[in-house]
Amino acid sequence: MKRYSAFAIAREAARYHTGWERAWAAPEPKPQYDVIVIGAGGHGLATAYYLGKNHGIKNVAIIEKGWLGGGNTGRNTTIIRSNYLQDPSAAIYEKARSLYETMSQDLNYNVMFSPRGLIMLAQTHHEVRGYQRTAYANALQGVKTEFIGPERVKELVPIIDITGPRYPVLGGLYQARGGTARHDAVAWGYARACSDMGMHVLQKTEVTAIRSDAGNVTGVETSRGFIGCKKLSIVVAGHSGHVAEMAGFRLPIESVALQALVSEPIKPCMDVVVMANTVHGYMSQSDKGEMVIGGGTDGYNNYTQRGSFHHIEETVRALIETFPMLSRLKMLRQWGGIVDITGDRSPILSKTPLGNCFINCGWGTGGFKAIPGSGWAMAELVAKGEPGPLAAEFGLDRFRQGRFIDESVAAGVAH
Ligand SMILES: Cc1cc2nc3c(=O)[nH]c(=O)nc-3n(C[C@H](O)[C@H](O)[C@H](O)COP(=O)(O)OP(=O)(O)OC[C@H]3O[C@@H](n4cnc5c(N)ncnc54)[C@H](O)[C@@H]3O)c2cc1C
Repeated sequence: MKRYSAFAIAREAARYHTGWERAWAAPEPKPQYDVIVIGAGGHGLATAYYLGKNHGIKNVAIIEKGWLGGGNTGRNTTIIRSNYLQDPSAAIYEKARSLYETMSQDLNYNVMFSPRGLIMLAQTHHEVRGYQRTAYANALQGVKTEFIGPERVKELVPIIDITGPRYPVLGGLYQARGGTARHDAVAWGYARACSDMGMHVLQKTEVTAIRSDAGNVTGVETSRGFIGCKKLSIVVAGHSGHVAEMAGFRLPIESVALQALVSEPIKPCMDVVVMANTVHGYMSQSDKGEMVIGGGTDGYNNYTQRGSFHHIEETVRALIETFPMLSRLKMLRQWGGIVDITGDRSPILSKTPLGNCFINCGWGTGGFKAIPGSGWAMAELVAKGEPGPLAAEFGLDRFRQGRFIDESVAAGVAH
């Protein structure tokens, strides 16, 4: 595959862009692969990419019922951070954040990683103490964060009202190298790199059943026929419960719609990401100028992938207290995705009751930021059959053993 470069852009401009080749191939499925990954979201594609790059396993198919990144990967608000409280979480999220730093170069695809800084506002005394604790934990984990006072918050975010009527800003947990990236580009970049390694990205191919024999998966039934495999990796986020049922096991997971919205584009006014967990809203400004706004999950389990009016009202009403300028903006679009939430708000990267079948799910409202770290850890699990250090604590058995990784504070708001 030809490399993207400034030279390539100049060359193509000179010949009216007629020489670009397709970013990834659209092959017919083979009868058998070494590994099948179900789900071409960021996590599935990253799993396949690191299987090839780190473990030399390239006879891989990534099977997607819709289109690349059409699930949560293309629907999220793209916040990237690693300021989690518990050690296993900080390790995998920081690995992911650090891989984002060089992702554009690694994939030769501009994922527009923008480490513009991220603040989680403390608007109650409880939050002040909670975030100070997280800052201390992060210092021990080698994750660079700091607790900053309200004046510094105002300096970083001039449009904020720190005196707030109900919830004044008392400080914030600041991660200077947190930020955002272009979500579609992450999926497209991985897909291109996988295709370049000879892997098959099979879009519009739905897995309808999983076949097994003597406790091992033999392959999957799909809308394009049976496809055999030696190992199976299930990476389908909000559909994890359904697909696990096809494999004959249950998951401690709930699927819920999570919504987001964007305003009309305006001139640059906020160059950090701000999360306000007390009032339950978070916001960043896209390169196009839109204010990208996210709220909470629906209060009931469902599989809808669209927005609802009451969410716009609740989320914007909450944020206007802290950002009064929002009241003058028109909201342009809203949408939803189906997120997969575990009881301890931490993901599952695990072996399953089937010998050669592995599952990656439970990233809930915050898995975009984890994509490269999760793919790295999942590839190791699939290749070796045992979890490496990054995935070791995230097994399914933790729910049976009561070894929870409680991130209900760090992951309590949608992001
Ligand atoms: C509104 C919203 C805002 C968010 N904001 C953030 C944020 O700011 N920061 C952050 O870190 N995270 C955020 N998230 C969460 C993040 O988007 C997800 O955790 C992450 O994208 C999950 O990626 P994935 O690859 O596991 O899943 P997905 O991208 O959902 O991919 C799973 C794929 O599996 C496919 N699939 C399902 N069933 C089958 C089948 N039977 N056969 C074949 N294919 C199948 C689906 O079509 C889908 O494409 C947000 C989510 C939403 C919805």
